[in-house]
Order: sequence, then C-alpha cells, then structure tokens
Amino acid sequence: MLHSILDTLELPVERRHFLFRSTQTLLSAALIASMAGYETNASELLNPQNTSAAGPVDKISLPPLEAQTEQKKGPLPNPEPMEKRIGYAIVGLGHLALEQVLPSFGACEKSKITALVSGNRDKALTVAKQYGVSEKSIYDYQNFDSIKNNPDVDVVYIILPNCMHAEFTIRSAKAGKHVLCEKPMANTVAECEQMIKACEDAKRKLMIAYRIQYEPNNTEIKKMVREETYGKVKSIVAVNGQNIGDPSQWRLNKKLAGGGSLPDVGIYCLNTIRFLIGEEPVEVYAQITTDTADPRFKEVEDVVNFQLTFPGGLRAMCGTSYSHHQSRNYRVYAERAFFGMDPAFAYGGLQMHRSFAQDESEIYETPKRTAKNQFALEIDHMSDCVRTDKKPFTPGEEGLQDMKIIEALYLSARENRPVQLKKYEGKDLFRGSTPEK
Ligand code: NAD
Repeated sequence: MLHSILDTLELPVERRHFLFRSTQTLLSAALIASMAGYETNASELLNPQNTSAAGPVDKISLPPLEAQTEQKKGPLPNPEPMEKRIGYAIVGLGHLALEQVLPSFGACEKSKITALVSGNRDKALTVAKQYGVSEKSIYDYQNFDSIKNNPDVDVVYIILPNCMHAEFTIRSAKAGKHVLCEKPMANTVAECEQMIKACEDAKRKLMIAYRIQYEPNNTEIKKMVREETYGKVKSIVAVNGQNIGDPSQWRLNKKLAGGGSLPDVGIYCLNTIRFLIGEEPVEVYAQITTDTADPRFKEVEDVVNFQLTFPGGLRAMCGTSYSHHQSRNYRVYAERAFFGMDPAFAYGGLQMHRSFAQDESEIYETPKRTAKNQFALEIDHMSDCVRTDKKPFTPGEEGLQDMKIIEALYLSARENRPVQLKKYEGKDLFRGSTPEK
C-alpha cells in the first residue's frame, strides 16, 4: 500500500526508497507502542505536533484536514475516561433500547452503561457481553430494588411500555437513583405528578427523554422562531404518523399504552411546537377518526387532528396517525419565509428546509448540517445535570405539561368542542437548564 502511494509520487527512486523505509519505521514503532499499551498511533508519530513532552494530555487535538472554505465538522470527540463517566442502568431491552439507545452510548462522552434490567435473563446476558456490562449488574423486574446497592449506577433509564414508567420511576427514586424516562412520561397526569413527587422527595433528578429538544437543527429553528429572523410566525403545521403492524403489541392495548397515536407519536408535534415557541397553549381542539373494524384499533385511537392556540393568537395544526405511511414533518410559516424539517422526528437523516424571496427569485434551501446523535446528546445532558446538580432541560414538569394537554385533547375530541387550558405568562416555564451544546 505504502509502496504504491509512494510510487505515484514524482520523486527520484532513492528518495522514494528513503521515504518508504522511514514511514515503515514509524508505523512499526506505532505498532510496538500500541502492543505495549501506549496511547499512540502512526498519525501521532507522523504528526510530531501531537506529542507532549509532559505525557498524556486531557484532550486530543488534530490539525484540520480541510480548508476554511469547507463545512465545519465540529470539535473532535474528546470523551471522558470511563471511570469518570456517569453510570446508567437500562431498564427494558426492547426495540428502542437495542436499536438506538445502547449503540448511542458509543457516541456519548460523559455516560456509560453499567447495568441492565430485563425480564429475560438470557437476552440480558447476551446484551451484557455485547456492551461489557458485568453479569453481577443484571437485574429483573422483581429484584430491581436491590439496584440501590450498586454504586456503579447513578441514573436509571426507563425504556418500558408507558404503563410501567411511573412504577419504575418511583422505585428508582426510592433506590436513590436519578431517572431518565422515555416519552410519554406516563399514562395519566396523576401518574406524572406522583413521579415528580417521588424524585423530589428522594432529591433525585427526573428528565423526560425528549430527544428533539437536544437536536441541533431543531435548536436552530427555535432560534429563527424566537429571534423572528424572518418576521413573526403566523402559523405552524406538523405531522407525525406511521402505519402500525401487529395488532397484539402493547402499543395497541389501552391499559399498557395509555392511548394510541396521540401519546406515542402525536406527542412529538405537540412537544416540538411548545419547544419552538416557548409558550403554552391556552386552547385545544381535537378530532379523532378511528375505524374500529380494523383489528388494530379495538382499544386505542388511530387518526387525531388537533389545533393548539397560543396566548399571542398563533395557531398550530397537527396531525398524527397509526394507519398512514410514515410521515414526520413540520413547517413554520413566518412573514418573510417558511421553514421547517422533513423528516423532522426520525432517529436520523433529519433535514431542514427554508424558502424566502431574494430579488427576482424564490430561494429554497436544504442546509445539510453535520449529523449528531440525538440520543447521545440527551443522555450526556442528563449526566451534566447529575454532575453539576442542575435541573434537566426537559424535566418531569415538561412531561407533565404534555400529559395535561393530551388529556385536554381527548376531552375535546369526546365532547367535540374547544377546551380551555390554564393561561401562563412567560416562556419556557417548564424547562430547566439549557444544554451545553
Ligand atoms: P418494545 O416493545 O420494543 O420494548 C419494551 C420492552 O419492555 C421489551 O423489552 C419488553 O420485554 C419489556 N416489557 C416488560 N414488561 C412488559 C409488558 N408487560 N408488556 C410488553 N413489554 C414489556 O417498546 P419500545 O419501542 O422499545 O418502547 C419502549 C418505550 O420507549 C415506550 O415508552 C416508547 O414510547 C418509548 N420510545 C421512545 C422513542 C424515542 O424516540 N424517544 C422511540 C420508540 C419508543
């Protein structure tokens, strides 16, 4: 390989030979050093500015590869050493845990997996091997409370069916652990209130995993909305829906899921719009359309169309469904532009768009940002809050407010009328400390 690269250089044979030998020597040194356990590599040896006479440095830096004209990649990941990181117990090893959350710890800089909780020990043993979790730190739902004796666990991350969020939050708080809980926070307002109280009583933190509020594209759109970059926002339209399968899954069981598309995916429209404008709706109006002959919809709702009215008069139109092809987008209509995300709420591949007039043209842009792992950003934010004793940006109160609005939306649909909500003055009333990045 080196031979062929050097052969393409226009150099005299003896100079090429010298370069090949010296580079080989450097690579051999790197190999020997790495076999001896030293933290060095060929690129460091080839770039002497990265070596330090004083020994290992806290943060690694590398010179940029591209010219100033190119897209910035953001800072080099500089994860904390493992022994310093905040330890997480993952409760529930289903789709979200296995497909997204556990792999995302690889992109975390301040957090590590230290325990697993599952009803299936064989599965937990396999996952423990995959992620380097000690067998002693595997729990089931019955012996979970003994996690209080595990000093490696700082935070319990609850990724269970919605009806189990309250129980495991309360048990975690009683075990002296902080809690990161998946959305929707719980099935009822009363459960959310019990969860907040349990964490307050135990002096533990409670954060709801609203990953969109930690995602950089959405944060940029929030800035455009709040700073009125394109004038006042006049209207917002958002859709989050998908075609659900197996009728026997817990998501279609009212007792286990609390509801259908609304608390599961419609919540993204509601929560993201509240995040973008920072205000709380004063009135909601919803209509539900469900084909109860469809075996999937014996217990929970299918299509929900709803309107949110905010104190300044702004209206947002939202749609969610369990029976249309997956579609996840929103668009903000402002005086001098429209802008938004499509896809908006997916795990990856999020895409911003904006359109505005310039001279004789209408400019339609789709800016492409360097992608960031949303799960890693939210998990590391929780770790920051634990370490520095700050209230998470999306605390229990944020999840409770969504649940109050969802209950009002169900009431509105049942009684086919607009429902008024408590009027709040000010912005971001239910959010905690702003994420570092
Ligand atoms: P899932 O069905 O794939 O996994 C649920 C896990 O809970 C499984 O391991 C299952 O064995 C376990 N479990 C324990 N008791 C159970 C019971 N009585 N019935 C069914 N399962 C039981 O679900 P999921 O998609 O991983 O969702 C879990 C949670 O994560 C839900 O609250 C969901 O709303 C949330 N979620 C969030 C996102 C997000 O992007 N933030 C995405 C998907 C799901």
